[in-house]
Amino acid sequence: MPGAIPQHFIDELLSRADIVEIIGRRVPLKKAGREFQACCPFHNEKTPSFTVSPTKQFYHCFGCGAHGSALSFMMEYDRLSFPEAVEELATSMGLEVPREAGFAQGPDHRPLFDILERAAAYFAQQLRQHPQAAQAVEYLRGRGVSGEVAADFRLGYAPPGWDNLLQTLGGDDGRIRLLREAGLITEQEDGKRYDRLRDRIIFPIRDTRGRVVGFGGRLLGDGKPKYLNSPETPVFHKGRELYGLFEARQADANPARLLVVEGYMDVVALAQFGISNAVATLGTATTSDHLEKLYRATPELVFCFDGDRAGRDAAWKALQTALPL
Ligand code: ZN
Repeated sequence: MPGAIPQHFIDELLSRADIVEIIGRRVPLKKAGREFQACCPFHNEKTPSFTVSPTKQFYHCFGCGAHGSALSFMMEYDRLSFPEAVEELATSMGLEVPREAGFAQGPDHRPLFDILERAAAYFAQQLRQHPQAAQAVEYLRGRGVSGEVAADFRLGYAPPGWDNLLQTLGGDDGRIRLLREAGLITEQEDGKRYDRLRDRIIFPIRDTRGRVVGFGGRLLGDGKPKYLNSPETPVFHKGRELYGLFEARQADANPARLLVVEGYMDVVALAQFGISNAVATLGTATTSDHLEKLYRATPELVFCFDGDRAGRDAAWKALQTALPL
């Protein structure tokens, strides 16, 4: 469990960092007198009102009021938490972040991210290698999905059987506990455990930093439910995560607009046809948390749901949720 970052280290980091260089690596800056200028990366504009001051080590936007230090820029632009921004800045300067003992900063989720990453790698490998993956490959081909797009989205395959993943990754009690905490296995009252995702095409769900936080699975055979998501876990909250947002920002870091569509397959199929700015909620209505996250990535949202009654109701509800924001 990492301790708190001492204030003196943060002060030192900021005094050594060069905000012009840090912002300049992400946004093209032009010298204007003593300062530097750019079109603001946080709002849409044609004439630059974003300035960076090398003497004050601050940035300021006269258009939208965005303002702060190198660290706040990294938090906003790279969508990092404060400790993450400190880590990243320190690493780029070849420094190690000291931690104060005794200050707990909340639970350390790294082992959970690690097991989720291993599971994603396992599912992707099964799509390429498992003898019964042909049906999954056939389905994806039928939807026009190329190998390249499948790789961009890290699509995978959970083979039929009760405990493939459990046998592969659940080597000891610690691992089994992590698999359970990650929502990858289910445990019955009598202690029997089995894989949650079986005989499904797997859609890894990544957070804005690209870490796998959960999975969606589409059933291949008949049966129910057709779509199954990871349950809520310490790192996966359906009301906050959006499928495809990481991938959309990989294609364009500052998209002019994002399309909100109904499901993972819509996101993947659109990407296949060169429309790489689509995202989907995960079987939940659009929440204000979703919308806040999306408006941090783009100024314009377009909801694009099915034309049936359920789709129209969902679109109307999304509009109502969006208005106060
Ligand atoms: Zn601005």
